[in-house]
Amino acid sequence: MREKLPACIIFEISVRFAGRFQTYSPYNLTSNLLAFNSKYDVVVIGGGLSGLAAGIRLAHFGKRVCVFERHTKAGGLNSWYERGGRVFDTGLHAFTNFASPEDRSAPLNRILRRLRIRREELRLCPQSHSTIRCGTTELRLDNDFASFQERVAKHFPEDREGFEALLAKIESTAYAGTPQPERTAREVLAEHLKSRRLQDLLCLPVFFFGNAWGGEMPFGAFATLFKSIFVEGFARPQDGMQPVIELLTSRLQGAGAELHLGCGVTKINLDNSGNFQSILDNSGQVFTADCCLSTIGAVETRKLLGDTDVPVPLSKVQPGEVQFVEALFELDEPAATYGLTDCMQFIGLESNFAFRPMSSNTPTDSLLVCVPDNYIGVTPTRMLRLSAPVASLGPLHSDLCRDAMPPGVKSILAQMLLAQLGAYYPRLAGHAKFLDLYTPYTFRRFTGHANGAIYGSPDKFADGATGVPGLALAGTDQGLLGIVGALLSGVLAANRFLANR
Ligand SMILES: Cc1cc2nc3c(=O)[nH]c(=O)nc-3n(C[C@H](O)[C@H](O)[C@H](O)COP(=O)(O)OP(=O)(O)OC[C@H]3O[C@@H](n4cnc5c(N)ncnc54)[C@H](O)[C@@H]3O)c2cc1C
Repeated sequence: MREKLPACIIFEISVRFAGRFQTYSPYNLTSNLLAFNSKYDVVVIGGGLSGLAAGIRLAHFGKRVCVFERHTKAGGLNSWYERGGRVFDTGLHAFTNFASPEDRSAPLNRILRRLRIRREELRLCPQSHSTIRCGTTELRLDNDFASFQERVAKHFPEDREGFEALLAKIESTAYAGTPQPERTAREVLAEHLKSRRLQDLLCLPVFFFGNAWGGEMPFGAFATLFKSIFVEGFARPQDGMQPVIELLTSRLQGAGAELHLGCGVTKINLDNSGNFQSILDNSGQVFTADCCLSTIGAVETRKLLGDTDVPVPLSKVQPGEVQFVEALFELDEPAATYGLTDCMQFIGLESNFAFRPMSSNTPTDSLLVCVPDNYIGVTPTRMLRLSAPVASLGPLHSDLCRDAMPPGVKSILAQMLLAQLGAYYPRLAGHAKFLDLYTPYTFRRFTGHANGAIYGSPDKFADGATGVPGLALAGTDQGLLGIVGALLSGVLAANRFLANR
């Protein structure tokens, strides 16, 4: 087992070397020199949340690990950036899985123990409440699931028993990846609940927080997300993702792993027997390892294998189609001034919710509204985030996936979303200043996800197995979605590797 350097002498030097950023601590600087031309136990492709978690866990067990991240910052889809002296979260609405700290078996608490992170270090601020709205029906969602059950029973008395039966089914359903023999979420909901309105209300948050499939999703994936959102609840780190990513990267390096930033992997090499052998980075260096854990997505991993014959299912994997736009605004006054008191609102704008994407001639049928300042105890920023599913925007722009958008077009799109929210909050008019808009292009550019589809491929690999010996998947296309899902996926992938050694 490797020894850790005392924290007080761990310092970091970021240098640009051989065309890429590499972050060193004295520990990994030494191990780098020793490791020159030698083999790693594991190379991890992608320094998003799943890659960082896998790297930390493996390094704790003395494995020689190197995490390769193409971007100059870690964090992937849920990272941060600075503009004009201000820090922006790229993706953060909320952490799911906010169970009580005393619940030792809750996924978040278990993951943090595995990563040797104290829960206080995340500085999580719980939601006060959120709201799910469809037409004229509203359901309040807070971190007290028993109260939520009572509200469902009150608003939908005809579905009281059906809802209880649905909860029992959700409780007994384990996530199984795809393809699945089981039914879809909509089918199972319709089987248990008479009210289409209640079905829509339950789908809205789940679809926004992890639907890679479109208007439907496998019931197993729905059940996993339902538990993490409805049963466990939401919270937000006090100062956004920056401190969380910094905590994870310092733990990674403190545990002795290497993190190569600005270092994209351009090729995965197999040996003559079809086993994983090495990776090639964008500066032309080859790194050999016993095993490779790819967190970049199944389609993206397949691409790095080039012309190699790859077994099914990896060879048959399809790119994702579910895309989002996300607009950021700054409010003139605290959000409550305009009537915005929820942490999040999941709004179905039409009588039936289908998760219809916004396009040039159709507005979206659903919006996710996030007011970070409404979480209890966060550092106020006066920001407002609006997210919607999106498809090609035709005349507005030929294809959001292919081209960068001129700033003027971004602002028009953001105003379209704001106008949809304005129907509920007329006092907002003229008080929300446009800051930025992320499109599928943004997500593809910064994280490499095909189509900029943030929830990845509809084909999920629950056990991470690709069929290529020594090459496993973790993260988005392992199918545990979201921030906590990604951390869990990384920990599970590391555990699988450790169990096999
Ligand atoms: C706008 C938005 C809002 C979101 N909101 C929430 C939220 O509020 N709550 C929540 O729980 N989840 C949210 N999510 C989802 C959550 O962010 C993701 O599910 C999670 O971060 C996925 O982590 P990952 O490690 O699996 O993948 P990624 O974050 O995609 O990590 C993969 C990493 O691999 C890197 N990479 C790609 N190709 C290469 C290569 N060839 N070589 C080296 N590196 C490479 C990428 O740059 C990236 O850093 C949101 C996502 C987005 C985009």
